[in-house]
Amino acid sequence: MFSLNYCAAGCGRLAITDSKLCAPHSADVKAEEIRIGNLIKRGTDVCNLNASYMRFENEDFSGRRFYACNFKSSIFSVCDFSNCSMQLVLFEFADFYNCSFRQTNLEFLSFAGARFQQVFFENSDLVNINYGGASIVNCSFNDSGMYNSRFINADMVCTSLINCDIKRTNFIMTKRKSVSFKTSNTGEAIFEMSE
Ligand SMILES: [Zn+2]
Repeated sequence: MFSLNYCAAGCGRLAITDSKLCAPHSADVKAEEIRIGNLIKRGTDVCNLNASYMRFENEDFSGRRFYACNFKSSIFSVCDFSNCSMQLVLFEFADFYNCSFRQTNLEFLSFAGARFQQVFFENSDLVNINYGGASIVNCSFNDSGMYNSRFINADMVCTSLINCDIKRTNFIMTKRKSVSFKTSNTGEAIFEMSE
């Protein structure tokens, strides 16, 4: 798992990988964001990275394998994660604008409290993913397989889950406006709390 090195400023946040400080305490956060962006793009495997509270814009992170990384409260704008595989990655309270997760293989991820606008998870395998309390607007999960995932308390607007294979995935307490499950297998989806 990513190292639990805490920020030297004593704020309680984790320090950025290869830094003594967290992003909010960094003297030059822009330089740190460029450094981390280049670190991600340098190789295929991205392991044990701590990059929380950072901002990434117009980045091509496609085709990477992410393992045990922390992007909590980071902001991604026009970032391409297509064809990535990810395991044990934390994106809690992260913001995503116009990003692609198309043709991805995602397992054990947390997007709890995240905000998505125009984010595309199409043709993907989404296994053990937590979207709890997330805001999901103008997004698509079309043609994906979902297994053992949770959208509990998520706010879903103008979002399509068309032609999905949905198994043991929980939608209880979701707010859904213009959400389509057309031709999806929802027999094993959970929409109501059982008594
Ligand atoms: Zn700090």
